[in-house]
Amino acid sequence: MPVHDDRWMQPTLQHELHARKAGVHVSTLSRVRTEEMDNPAARCPCGRRTTADMLVDLRSLPPGYLSKCGIAAAWDFACDACRGRWYTLGLVDRVDMARQLGAPEAVLARIRVEQRRGKFI
Ligand SMILES: [Zn+2]
Repeated sequence: MPVHDDRWMQPTLQHELHARKAGVHVSTLSRVRTEEMDNPAARCPCGRRTTADMLVDLRSLPPGYLSKCGIAAAWDFACDACRGRWYTLGLVDRVDMARQLGAPEAVLARIRVEQRRGKFI
């Protein structure tokens, strides 16, 4: 995923599906706009059905990251509802997860500002 500025996006199932279709590695998709990619419905491990762009790819997290947070380690993708629940319950720190997923400092700084403003937990 792009790491150069605050245009960085979390890796999602949508990126993965597009990479498989295009025969490229996900990291080479940084210049592909999400609106140019198919966005099929998919199911989160929680059972919720949502679109692929809402399922964040957790596979690049360090081994044991989620289990240390009290979350079953088998999750490869998680929907926005699950991630929101993890943040709200204090299981996962939003800034730390973004950092672990490759977010550049500009994005981390923006998340911190939004947290201070009460937009995010
Ligand atoms: Zn979910």
